[in-house]
Amino acid sequence: MTRAEEISAGLAAVNARIERACAAAGRDPDEITLIVVTKTYPASDVELLAGLGVVDVGENRDQEAAPKAAAVSAPVRWHFVGQLQRNKCRSVVTYADAVHSVDGVRLAETLAGAAQRHRERALDVLVQVSIDGDPARGGAVRGGDADRDLERVAAAVAEAPALRLAGVMAVAPMDWTPDAAFASLARTAVDLRAAYPEATAISAGMSGDLEAAIVHGATHVRIGSAVLGTRDKLR
Ligand SMILES: *Cc1c(COP(=O)(O)O)cnc(C)c1O
Repeated sequence: MTRAEEISAGLAAVNARIERACAAAGRDPDEITLIVVTKTYPASDVELLAGLGVVDVGENRDQEAAPKAAAVSAPVRWHFVGQLQRNKCRSVVTYADAVHSVDGVRLAETLAGAAQRHRERALDVLVQVSIDGDPARGGAVRGGDADRDLERVAAAVAEAPALRLAGVMAVAPMDWTPDAAFASLARTAVDLRAAYPEATAISAGMSGDLEAAIVHGATHVRIGSAVLGTRDKLR
C-alpha cells in the first residue's frame, strides 16, 4: 500500500464511524467537523490529507506545528489543540485558525495581544475545560482559582477583540468513562452558551472515544491514530 492508500483507508474508516455514530444519535454528519491530528506525522501527510478532501488538521506543539504549517501549501485550517505556553502565542497566531486549549486568563490575554498585533482576522478560541476539576492536568475549572476559573477565562476571551469565543474543548480523563466525561462537558457547554450564544463548538472525541463524544453533542472530533496510524511516541 502507498501512504496515500493507507491514509485514504484510515479516513474512510473514521468517516464511517462518524456516520454510524451520527445515525445512532439522530444527528446529521454535516454537524461534525473532522480534525485530523497530524502531530508526529510529516507535512507530506498533510498534503495527502488535503488531496483527499481534509480541510482541518490539528497539532499540539508549536515547535513541530510552525515549520509544518510553513511547509504545507494546501489550503488547510490549522487547529492548535495542545497545551500552549504563553511564550508560544506569538508564533501560534501566525498560522493557527483556531486554538482549542485556552485554559487561563493570563494565557487568554497573551494570546489576545499576539493576535491583535500579528493577525488580520480574529482567532477562534475554545476554552479547554477540566472534566474532573484537577488543575494539574490542564483545563479551566468551574469555580477554580482566579487564573483558571472557567467563567473568567471565557470572559477574558469574549472581551478580546482579536479573539472569538467559539466554544469548549476537553479530553476525557483516563479514569472516567468517555460517556460520563462528555456528558459533563455537554452541561458545561450549555451553561457557557447561555452567557455567550455564539460559543457553539464542542471539541471532544479522539480515536478511542469519538462515538461517545458524538452522542453528547461534539461538533469537532480530533482524530490522529485512527486515520494516520499509531504514533511511536506516547503523546
Ligand atoms: C493527540 C491528540 C488527539 C488525537 O489523539 P488520537 O488518540 O491519536 O486520535 C486529540 N486531541 C489532542 C489534544 C491530542 O493531543
